[in-house]
Amino acid sequence: MLKIAIQKSGRLSESSRKLLEECGIKFFNGSGVLKTKAVNFPVEILFLRDDDIPQYVEQQVADIGILGENMVYEKDKDVKIVEKLGFAQCRLSLAIPKDEEYPGPSYFTKKKVATSYTKLLSDYFRKNRIKAEIEEISGSVEIAPGIGLADAVCDIVSSGSTLLTNGLREVETVLKSQAVLISNKNLSKDKGEILDKLLFRIRAVKNAKENKYILLNAPESAIEKICRILPGIKSPTILPLAEKGWCSLHSVVKEDEFWERINQLKNAGAQGILVIPIEKLVV
Ligand code: ATP
Ligand code: MG
Repeated sequence: MLKIAIQKSGRLSESSRKLLEECGIKFFNGSGVLKTKAVNFPVEILFLRDDDIPQYVEQQVADIGILGENMVYEKDKDVKIVEKLGFAQCRLSLAIPKDEEYPGPSYFTKKKVATSYTKLLSDYFRKNRIKAEIEEISGSVEIAPGIGLADAVCDIVSSGSTLLTNGLREVETVLKSQAVLISNKNLSKDKGEILDKLLFRIRAVKNAKENKYILLNAPESAIEKICRILPGIKSPTILPLAEKGWCSLHSVVKEDEFWERINQLKNAGAQGILVIPIEKLVV
């Protein structure tokens, strides 16, 4: 049995539960539950505050956990990151009152900066040789300048709209972050094997999200050109259509590449282009 810690409630909890479900792991998802065993996979799920996950994974209260990289580096526990999960993308940024001039990081010299990320921020100031004062607060960091508690803030940002509504302007990125899977460094052989199975599934789910199944029709004469525009996993499947001289081409493309290449495909003679989501992709 592998014990996996995920956030009980907050910005990571929905996506963490969804990822496990997409990996085919079925478990009771009631709101008041703190611990539950999956019915069809040897994992037990613990629902915790994200701040506590690194410590619990280090102490093997949980074997693995899902949380933001920002929290992993801030807590600095002896755990390893085994996979980046591609959700909860955000950054830890420094922000200042929006009307102040910003000459560069030297702005922060002798300033008081409010944050919940004291380790990451003090590392940043040390690296940039800036002597600033750090005021630790646990939440609602962005109101600190407005109430006279600090001159600036260092907080998690995704769109930046919370900063703007609080009259702040983002000036430096301290860290880029996304959700990751962390593991205890000394898993038993049995637990390691379960983790490998889980990782296999997670990668299949991630691959599926990044890729799309594409079908299109084209005259036979255009197929060679289209194949050069659209490299598939190996090579595309080409099937004849009922109409003579025409065929249907099936392949897998990265979603980003598809948008970049759509005009090239049309110019090459592709018609009736269908793009379909993939549920799992094992390569
Ligand atoms: P807990 O009660 O578990 O301690 P919390 O309030 O400390 O939760 P959340 O606000 O739920 O934490 O954020 C959890 C993680 O989600 C953050 O550490 C960060 O990695 C990520 N995150 C936070 N804000 C955003 C955002 N605006 N966009 C994307 N990801 C975010
Ligand atoms: Mg927290």
